Amino acid sequence: MRKNVVVAIDGYSSCGKSTLAKALAKTLGFIYIDSGAMYRAVTLYFIRNHTNVNEEAAVKDALQHIELNFHSRDYESHITLNGEEVSEEIRQMPVSEAVSEVSALKLVRTEMVKQQQRMGKSKNIVMDGRDIGTKVFEDAQVKLFMTADPKVRAERRFKEMQSKGDTTTTLEEVFENLAHRDYADTTRKESPLMRADDAIILDNTDITPKEQLEFALNKVTPFIPQLV
Ligand code: C5P
Repeated sequence: MRKNVVVAIDGYSSCGKSTLAKALAKTLGFIYIDSGAMYRAVTLYFIRNHTNVNEEAAVKDALQHIELNFHSRDYESHITLNGEEVSEEIRQMPVSEAVSEVSALKLVRTEMVKQQQRMGKSKNIVMDGRDIGTKVFEDAQVKLFMTADPKVRAERRFKEMQSKGDTTTTLEEVFENLAHRDYADTTRKESPLMRADDAIILDNTDITPKEQLEFALNKVTPFIPQLV
């Protein structure tokens, strides 16, 4: 049995996984790891270097030239791609539009899962993504599966993008992108997004971030020895 505590948060695109994961990590003093940022950073590298996703050798070669690192500042996770801070760029539409295709590649997933498992080997972590409870940490003490109404999700994401200065992407485009990624992520062959049998469903359509944090804290605190 693992000694460190792992909280695995999976779910559909833009349903507040990272908001909850960050709040949990901050409250509990855990490390937050945004696994989606890793797939996004790999996608950015592929876009910049015109990596052909249909050519195994090209994908393999590209992966050997990618080094990802997280830097946590105030529980906001920042990711670097070969030393360059790319946290903002990986959230923009070109990456969002290509990421599901890249993340469906077996070679890419094998490498990312390996790195993620290493990060969660001995430290208390909260990791969010699509396959954290089903593949990366099947033995996580707490697994949450998040969902929310697709329209509510698109509106939240749209507002977030606008607040970051993206005034060109429309609400419809955001909605379409989420629908596309949900479809691709749930139907792909390699580790499709699905609820682990032992994951607790959390639908946050009508609850506040504070309420969802309380819900999750109630599930996690029994596993933290010093708190019980
Ligand atoms: O979490 P986020 O929406 O940033 O993830 C972007 C994309 O990365 C997802 O749509 C999915 O295709 C991929 N992803 C994945 N497995 C994870 C995390 C993200 O396939 N564990």
